[in-house]
Amino acid sequence: MAYQVPLLINGNMVQSHTKQWLEVTNPATQDVIAHLPCATGDEVRLAVVAAKAAFTKWRRVPVPERARLMLRYQALLKEQHDELARLLCKDTGKTLEDARGDVWRGIEVVEQAAHVASLTMGETQAEVATGVDCYSFSQPLGVCLGITPFNFPAMIPLWMFPLAIACGNAFVLKPSEQDPLVPMELAKLFREAGAPDGLLNVVHGGAEVAEQLLTHEDIVAVSFVGSVGAGRHVYRTATDRLKRVQVFAGAKNHMVVMPDANKQQAINNLVGASVGAAGQRCMAISVGVLVGEAKAWLAEIKEALAKVRPGAWNDPKAGYGPLISQAAKKRVLGLIEAGKREGADCLLDGSNCIVSDHPDGNWVGPTLFAGVTPTMRIYTEEIFGPVLLLMTVDSLDEAIALVNANPYGNGTSIFTASGAAARKYQQESQVGQVGINVPVPVPLPFFSFTGWRGSFYGDLHAYGKQGVRFYTETKTVTSRWFDDEVVTGPNLSIHLK
Ligand code: NAD
Repeated sequence: MAYQVPLLINGNMVQSHTKQWLEVTNPATQDVIAHLPCATGDEVRLAVVAAKAAFTKWRRVPVPERARLMLRYQALLKEQHDELARLLCKDTGKTLEDARGDVWRGIEVVEQAAHVASLTMGETQAEVATGVDCYSFSQPLGVCLGITPFNFPAMIPLWMFPLAIACGNAFVLKPSEQDPLVPMELAKLFREAGAPDGLLNVVHGGAEVAEQLLTHEDIVAVSFVGSVGAGRHVYRTATDRLKRVQVFAGAKNHMVVMPDANKQQAINNLVGASVGAAGQRCMAISVGVLVGEAKAWLAEIKEALAKVRPGAWNDPKAGYGPLISQAAKKRVLGLIEAGKREGADCLLDGSNCIVSDHPDGNWVGPTLFAGVTPTMRIYTEEIFGPVLLLMTVDSLDEAIALVNANPYGNGTSIFTASGAAARKYQQESQVGQVGINVPVPVPLPFFSFTGWRGSFYGDLHAYGKQGVRFYTETKTVTSRWFDDEVVTGPNLSIHLK
């Protein structure tokens, strides 16, 4: 019997009493590596009760103590960096180097969370009226919920619970049911770092379990990362219950390649950003927009892409791993077929990819389409596979119009040698994260992850200052200390005198 993943409730790793179990498979082999419980209603409620109880104590813990927990946690994560990465490889199929990056980008957010004291400082102004001072400070919200996707099982949970908890909240995490092993390990290490009972709880399951949490009256804020359909549902459900919500959803990211760009740099970056992690990144470049004479680079792009091959996590020559599941592979292959049917020019077709030492993996080879138009399904839908679409335009204005007509706005990049073109693109593209000669512009944690339009629902983004604001409420105090010798009559106006 494979490992049965426990739940973390009130500080204890407990076995679920559910009758509903899911299989967690290694996507390179189909081996069942764990059985995952879909938590029962009672277990979900117990997790929230534990978090609520922990919150009442934790909110009073001095802010430097909360910061110290993050420092200890960061040190443990760093110690376990390679172990976590290896587990991540098994669970997701990512290459070792990419898995290390997934863990590292999470550790960086924990580092940022350790700055909580300065990040949550308020404002003060003396003498806003005679003898009156005004100041503001941050207070935590209560029990926050995180629902995370499969594609970054270390980084994305670490976007959420460390910062929420550093700000004084308690947390319930529902990780992806497809690769829960790393999130459980993160939770275990958080306990080892000294997190009190109930501060972080982890419950497992799919959409049904997420729904129970989302609709629970004691959950006050929801952070969600996942697909567009689920994200919209989460946003509507949670806002309808008047909760604070941030939803990070799907994407269709374009890289604009200007003819004055350094050609080899542009091609290398386009290839890496489109098929890295098998294209299963919300910031993957899925559309290359070749401007003017850069249209002639198509053959070289094809040649460079054809050299990349997928393989097992420990194969040093593998460019990327398998897709997360057989269902994901079927969906991607279906979209490749749709592209061909709709008349796009399939220059490289990875549908029949074979990796001989792992014949059962969910492999898809690098796939390249040219002649793509904006109404084709391969353009309108997020493929989330190693598939690059190429489109051509005659000018930067046309490229900007194309990018802005797409409903998503997670990330984009421009490759150019012209400062003027770069600045125009930076200012006029309706996309929240822009890279200038940087293909995947994921901001470091002292900034925030700021997808726009169809890629984000909510007001405050992940981590950085916005993440802190998301997980806190501002309280403003207006204060006067009476001087006993001066007694005035009732002030009947709104004017503070
Ligand atoms: P998914 O939507 O299938 O699942 C994400 C999480 O939501 C899982 O925990 C899942 O159990 C839960 N879920 C599924 N249906 C739900 C529902 N109806 N109600 C509540 N919860 C539900 O996504 P995935 O396949 O795991 O992840 C890939 C998607 O995530 C892609 O679309 C990708 O673009 C997106 N993503 C976005 C960002 C971003 O920052 N914008 C980052 C990473 C991934």
